[in-house]
Amino acid sequence: MTSCIFCKIAAGEIPSDQVYADQDFVAFRDLQPQAPVHVLVIPRRHVDALTEVTPGDADLLGRLQVTAAAVAAQLGLAATGYRFVVNCGRDGCQTVPHLHLHLLGGRPLGWPPG
Ligand code: AMP
Repeated sequence: MTSCIFCKIAAGEIPSDQVYADQDFVAFRDLQPQAPVHVLVIPRRHVDALTEVTPGDADLLGRLQVTAAAVAAQLGLAATGYRFVVNCGRDGCQTVPHLHLHLLGGRPLGWPPG
């Protein structure tokens, strides 16, 4: 999608602090980190949100989490733990309409979330 900021980051048209990339996924540091490690993992393929996924996206969603877990290990979080967050829609506080997984770690994280 030409107007999507995360599509542009995936295409290298907008700079990002990239920590991982392969043919299907890109991971980069969040501009406004909420934890010592705050990385966004996105599929290169544009999907607006979890509300839009279909059973045909199961492989993509599974590999998104497998990729994010590998990125967490790469960043040294495997021993201490971390959290994945996928905000969806208005009540989920999604602000960028391109599916993305937040990887948060590097400190104890509170529960329940706000
Ligand atoms: P969400 O609120 O779940 O849609 O998360 C969107 C996230 O994208 C926020 O945490 C923003 O700080 C982050 N963000 C927005 N633009 C950029 C950017 N150009 N580079 C890195 N992170 C960004």
